[in-house]
Amino acid sequence: MSAGFDTVLIANRGEIALRIQRACRALGLRTVAAYAEPDREAPHVRHADIALCIGPAAAQRSYLDPTAILLAAEASGAQAIHPGYGFLSENAGFARSVEEAGLVFIGPRSETIALMGDKITAKRAMRAAGIPCVPGPDTGLPDDPVALHALAETIGYPVIAKAAGGGGGRGMRVVAGPEELDAALAVTRAEAARAFGNPEVYLEKFLRHPRHVEIQVLADAHGTALWLGARDCSLQRRHQKVLEEAPPPGIAADAIAAIGERCAAACRDIGYRGLGTFELLYEDGAFYFIEMNTRVQVEHTVTEMVTGLDLVQLQLRVARGEKLALRQDDIAVQGHAFECRINAEHPQSFVASPGRVTGWVQPGGPGIRVDTHMAAGSVVPPYYDSMIAKLIAHGADRSAALARLRVALDEMQVEGIHTNLALHRRLVRTDFVAGGGADIHALEQFLASA
Ligand code: ADP
Repeated sequence: MSAGFDTVLIANRGEIALRIQRACRALGLRTVAAYAEPDREAPHVRHADIALCIGPAAAQRSYLDPTAILLAAEASGAQAIHPGYGFLSENAGFARSVEEAGLVFIGPRSETIALMGDKITAKRAMRAAGIPCVPGPDTGLPDDPVALHALAETIGYPVIAKAAGGGGGRGMRVVAGPEELDAALAVTRAEAARAFGNPEVYLEKFLRHPRHVEIQVLADAHGTALWLGARDCSLQRRHQKVLEEAPPPGIAADAIAAIGERCAAACRDIGYRGLGTFELLYEDGAFYFIEMNTRVQVEHTVTEMVTGLDLVQLQLRVARGEKLALRQDDIAVQGHAFECRINAEHPQSFVASPGRVTGWVQPGGPGIRVDTHMAAGSVVPPYYDSMIAKLIAHGADRSAALARLRVALDEMQVEGIHTNLALHRRLVRTDFVAGGGADIHALEQFLASA
């Protein structure tokens, strides 16, 4: 594909809209901010070459409204749309509309998004491409109750029922034994139909103590696909990531390279284009694919810190049809990086805490990076995700990075709203974070015991 463009419409908000805008500007690209009413004062709106209000606060009528976004592209003369993460970033129908309008969707082809957006077809495609998957069939469930129960027995309890169209940590239910199976499936199906418009559910083995390890990939439209190292995102609450790091501690570099190579080969197999992430579970020395994200991820920053690459710039360049000049041998991981997701939320209840930020002190110093759209006086609207900043720390090794992270967390101050800063400060002083290699349950166990 040859797809020159000089103006990019940013169909997102918050820190990622600003992050994308910075990458565009560094490449000499003009930016269009397509924003919802409450974001009119946002920095990326102020810096944009053209800013267009696309609707009211409700995301359904702004950031999730394909027609409003396409109209803004037409009105502004943007030739490309960057969807960021969340919102319409993994919506194959939207990507197709962008393609059909003759514009560049900054991401993979819409067919690839559709393939990966259904976790069952994704698993089937990845198994065919030689990626190890969590035990369980890559098909929907049999209608016959006897066959269904036999299937769960074959996988072996505990199993997990997952919505094929699920995302954001929702649409999953652990089933401990046969007596729970029918009810769990009924609830998961109903939830999936309501939340994702797709009632299809599948079963796989519930791994008891895995870590969440993911491989970052980057592919151009000319057959080059690279893997850019791995991240560990095991520290989660309700299947939502809280603290991430790169590289995953305690996993041999050659084991990561082996799975990384397979992921890059799978990208070549399916003609993948752009940035992407293979999400895997890691247990007892083995990797198991769970899903692929076909967009830039929140935690791309830790990979940037250890590889020295600007992933969003590279994403824009391959979307423009450029050939990657990088070779796999050029990719080196230097030191270690952590990222804390700073959310506007009550420290105990985790309920969102919107409002006006009256004081904002940002940390600094060597190896410290803060990706945020906030400052003193900013307002956190109640309508969107509660993440307000990402605090990233890099160091020559894991303990140096962690030491910098502790200092930075102590320096950072947010007044006027509640945040999870105190939780992060405690977390980075626990033995399980200091030791590294905690599993996906560690954070919830810590919260339950605290
Ligand atoms: P989502 O698309 O909602 O993010 P994922 O499939 O990526 O859902 O899973 C999110 C998290 O749920 C994983 O990081 C892991 O903590 C947990 N999880 C998913 N599948 C399994 C499984 N088979 N066994 C154990 N935990 C799982």
